[in-house]
Amino acid sequence: MSLSISGSVHRAETILDTARLAVVPTRTFARVFLLAKLRANGLRSGTMNGSTDALTDLGIVELERPRKNRIMQLPVVGQSNFTDPTDRFAQRIERQDGRPLSAKRVEILQVNVGKLCNQACKHCHVDAGPARTEIMTEETARQCIAALEQHEIKTLDLTGGAPEMNPHFRWMVRRARAAGAQVIVRHNLTIQFESGYEDLVSFFADQSVDVVCSLPHFEQDATDRQRGRGVFDKSIAGLRALNAVGYGQGRADRALALVHNPVGAYLPGAQSALEGQYRQELKSQHGITFDALYVITNMPIRRFKDWLVRTGQHDEYQGALESAFNLATIPSLMCRNTLSVSWDGRLFDCDFNQMLDLELHAQQATLATVSLDKLAGRVIATGNHCFGCTAGTGSSCGGQLT
Ligand code: SF4
Ligand code: SF4
Repeated sequence: MSLSISGSVHRAETILDTARLAVVPTRTFARVFLLAKLRANGLRSGTMNGSTDALTDLGIVELERPRKNRIMQLPVVGQSNFTDPTDRFAQRIERQDGRPLSAKRVEILQVNVGKLCNQACKHCHVDAGPARTEIMTEETARQCIAALEQHEIKTLDLTGGAPEMNPHFRWMVRRARAAGAQVIVRHNLTIQFESGYEDLVSFFADQSVDVVCSLPHFEQDATDRQRGRGVFDKSIAGLRALNAVGYGQGRADRALALVHNPVGAYLPGAQSALEGQYRQELKSQHGITFDALYVITNMPIRRFKDWLVRTGQHDEYQGALESAFNLATIPSLMCRNTLSVSWDGRLFDCDFNQMLDLELHAQQATLATVSLDKLAGRVIATGNHCFGCTAGTGSSCGGQLT
């Protein structure tokens, strides 16, 4: 008898944990239950082979009689009753939308080239900082560009850490631009003032890179509280340098967006109103212009979650996100058309899932093992952090969704 799961070890363990907890009265129901769990974990079209000893030990057998050289295809079974009981987000989506969250064709390749950063911000969901050593290798960088070219992906979105600190960053930008792709760089502004990055702004301009910069607030105190003392002043200087080469003045080849996120445990205000305030304050106080403001909700994961827990605000914040669930955000969620690549080449539905090690369903998913063509229609791996994307007007790397 055999069962193996062509998904991650983590998912297999999850399934076995579920089986261990289950009280399964009949063999038939055991089979349906387990197959449904596999499907809920995105394994419906996977193959099964290997040992079922663990399940046998649990008394939850027999799934199939053995047949020589047989590769078992999972049948289609109902799915809505078998979502992970701890994933309230998936349950909510299925209840209100009538189907699980699924992806479309990959249009944006968002690549996290490493966790190395010259800053260590309080809200950072990457846990990035100067001491991090995880950095994308040349081989993986080449795989990213090959995937972009082969699948004619329109946008390469480079993030980190500070993506510019990856030694292959400029090569990736040049190759992607030469392939005709839009390149977005998540730029923290302060890296411009580190040794070796003095020509960064002119490189951005030469390559017509779209620059997206974090500036949590237009006031010094609020920004420095989140990103560190002195960051606001450097950010202003960095924005002036970008303005000086034509960024932030309505030119398509010099697009400059700012990112606002709340400095505490609350949902952001309306994007359009905040954008007006930013425009007025930055222009009048500092002579700075920009093209767009993206308002982003702080996700309750990693460093920000630690801070929420430490200050006793986690449950209240999570509750606020769930109460503000907005079904109208679903069509525009970034996981629908974005594929996230980690510094070591693994694939995820989004950058947040990447930070939680919540891998793509049903895939040993790296750029080396998966064709991106096969990923359209996949069920997206979700968790309760996803309520951060669907709260209020919604949130994504490109700002609000509705
Ligand atoms: S939020 Fe950005 S700038 Fe701050 S530590 Fe994280 S990656 Fe670096
Ligand atoms: S965190 Fe947001 S973008 Fe990521 S899978 Fe959940 S809903 Fe989609």
